[in-house]
Amino acid sequence: MDCDKCDREAVMHAAYSGLHLCEDHFTASVDKRVRRRVREDGLVPDDATPEDPETWVVGLSGGKDSVVLTDILHRTFEQDPRIELVALTIHEGIEGYRDKSVDACEELAEELSIRHEIVTYEEEFDVRMDDVVEKDPENMAACAYCGVFRRDLLSRYAEEFGADKLLTGHNLDDEAETALMNFLEGDVAQIAKHFDASLGRFGDDRDDSESSRSSPAREEQEDFVPRAKPLRDVPEKEVALYAHLNDLPAHITECPHASEAYRGEIQSLLYQLEENHPGTRHSIMAGYEELAALAAEEFGARDGGKTELGECERCGASTTRDRCRKCSLLDSLHAA
Ligand code: SF4
Repeated sequence: MDCDKCDREAVMHAAYSGLHLCEDHFTASVDKRVRRRVREDGLVPDDATPEDPETWVVGLSGGKDSVVLTDILHRTFEQDPRIELVALTIHEGIEGYRDKSVDACEELAEELSIRHEIVTYEEEFDVRMDDVVEKDPENMAACAYCGVFRRDLLSRYAEEFGADKLLTGHNLDDEAETALMNFLEGDVAQIAKHFDASLGRFGDDRDDSESSRSSPAREEQEDFVPRAKPLRDVPEKEVALYAHLNDLPAHITECPHASEAYRGEIQSLLYQLEENHPGTRHSIMAGYEELAALAAEEFGARDGGKTELGECERCGASTTRDRCRKCSLLDSLHAA
């Protein structure tokens, strides 16, 4: 089959748009969608200047999504002195898994000549995920601990590096899954939380997994640095194809502790829906974003900014409780 835009051979067919695209036109279409999202989300403020540039911290795990995002952002802003990129990698302490993806991160950062910082659970919290899984004092899924720790480090280091934005590589499938999960659980507060009213877009990444969905972690305000997900219009398969065609150093292996059973069910459901009704993921997100904006408005009106945040007695992080979720988990782990 030929490309719909030229006479070269198509490398992909997107059922939701009906388009067949060759390698060059496919790559250009992904770049275009990411750049459009950056523009529509207003990520580059009018007052950013080369003298006072914006710092964007990009969560770089070494997986295909974050590698593709970092690569596209780099090429988009390479000649634009108003934007400075910093890649931030979190090492969770998972034997045989994270070491390889950290290698991929280092390779990419070196290739693109961007600043790259690595922080580890071991140095920050004196825990490794492999030990957390062994001890499991709270009887939770591995991802429930891991998500809380990762969110803490991303937020904390984004602040430390003076970030104006924290960008993560969530793709369209991730987003549609999260939307469905929140909706099916009837979790309107979480839906509202996903909308960043100040920027008029989605801000939370829900990487603290299914197991902490109703946990007190929700009572904490962790995201002081605004978040953005410029890859969220691109389906997962297209991200993988982009990484492959552009020979990007992505590490594609599943974490041995991955434990999001519910997300797996939603994934299968979405896959089937998309097969039978192309465009389902896009329409879920269009409706969800509208719903989230309405929910955020309603929650803001009800609360009137009255929810008071104090400081965690242990680490000083903002929380509505005496001790934040991360410190409580660390206490349990160190006592086990
Ligand atoms: Fe952590 Fe779960 Fe991701 Fe593994 S799959 S790195 S345990 S959040």
